[in-house]
Amino acid sequence: MSGSAIGTDSPAAEMAAATPTVTQKDQWMVESQVFHTYQHYSSLPSKAQAVLLELQRDKHMEFLTKGLRQLGPSFSVLDANRPWLCYWIIHSIALLGDSVHDNLEQSAVDFLNRCQDPEGGYGGGPGQASCFAILYVFYRIDICFLLPHLATTYAAVNTLTTLGGYRSLSSINRMHHGGEIDVRACYTAISVASALSILDDELVQNVGNYILSCQTYEGGIAGEPGSEAHGGYTFCGFATMLLINEANRLDLARLIDWVVFRQGVEGGFQGRTNKLVDGCYSFWQGNKVLKELLSLTRLPIVGREVEGGFRDKPGKNRDHYHTCYCLSGLSAAQYSYSEDADSPPLPRAVLGPYSNLLEPIHPLYNVVLERYYEAYEFFSRR
Ligand SMILES: [Zn+2]
Repeated sequence: MSGSAIGTDSPAAEMAAATPTVTQKDQWMVESQVFHTYQHYSSLPSKAQAVLLELQRDKHMEFLTKGLRQLGPSFSVLDANRPWLCYWIIHSIALLGDSVHDNLEQSAVDFLNRCQDPEGGYGGGPGQASCFAILYVFYRIDICFLLPHLATTYAAVNTLTTLGGYRSLSSINRMHHGGEIDVRACYTAISVASALSILDDELVQNVGNYILSCQTYEGGIAGEPGSEAHGGYTFCGFATMLLINEANRLDLARLIDWVVFRQGVEGGFQGRTNKLVDGCYSFWQGNKVLKELLSLTRLPIVGREVEGGFRDKPGKNRDHYHTCYCLSGLSAAQYSYSEDADSPPLPRAVLGPYSNLLEPIHPLYNVVLERYYEAYEFFSRR
C-alpha cells in the first residue's frame, strides 16, 4: 500500500507518528514518574525500603478524620454527594482497622438520617429538595421533599453498615421507589437490596438481560448498551450478576481478558482501553482478577501521599475517593491468596511490614467483612 493515503508509510501516517497525541504524552509522563519512583525505591538500602513501604496509618487517620469533621470550600462541587464522602472516609477508617469517636459516629448517623427521604432512599444531602411545582401552580403550596438517588442510597447504606450497631442499622428505612437506569444503578439497587435482605424475584426481573446487553465486543461492561466498556461499570455489572446468580451468562473468558489487559506496564490499571492508569481501578478492576494480580501491590509506593491519603497517580492531589478505593484494592490484593476468611494472609502477600495488613472486605459490597456479617444478621432477622 506504499504511497496510498491509508498506507502506514503515507505522509499523513508519518506526520502522526512524529506528532504524539496528548494522551501519548500523558502516558509517557506517568510511566516516567512511576519508574522514577521504582528506581528511587530500588536504590535505597533495605531498611529505608521498609520505611518507604510502611503504611502511614496515623497520617492516613489524620487526613480522614479531619475530612469527616470539616471540608474546605473546594468541596462545594461535591455538595450533592455528601453520603459518598461519609462512605469514602468511614470505610477507609474501617479498612485501617480503626473506628471513629462515638460523638462523630452519632453525628454521621444523624446527618444521614437527614438525607433520608420519608418514603425511603437517600438524597445527596439534607435539604436537597425537589419542589412539587404542580402543587405550587394550582394550590400555591410549596411542598419540598428530598430527592433520593440510588447511588447516594448505596453510599449511605454502606456507611451505616460500616458504622454498625443498632443505632446505625435501625435508622435505615428499607423502602425506595423509582431511580435511574444504567449498570451502576442496577448494582447499587441490587447491592443495597441484598445487604438489607429485601432482594426478591420482582426486583431481579430482567436485570441480567440488561447487563448482558451492556457487555461489549471487548469483553468489559459498559454503563449502557452501545457505550464503551469501563472499569467501574464492569465491576458493577459483574458484581450484580454474581449477586443475582447469573454471572455464568456473561462471556467470562472475554471479561477476564479485558480486565487483565487493562494493567499498565507501569503497574496499576486503566479504566478504559488506551487511557492512563489510576489508583482507584486497583479496586474496580483488581477486585475481579485477584489471582492474576502482580502489579497491584506496588500501588502503595506510587499512590500514597507523604502527608497521608492516596491519590489517582503521581502528580495528582490526594483525595478521599482515591484513599477509599486504593485501600480497598490493597485489601483485596492482600487477601487474594487466602484460602478462606478465617486464615490470615501469609507475610509474602503483604507488601512491606506485616503491620500493613488491612481489614478484609466483602468484594461484592465493598464493606469490611465483619461489618457486613453484622448487618446481614441484623436485617435477616427483621
Ligand atoms: Zn481514579
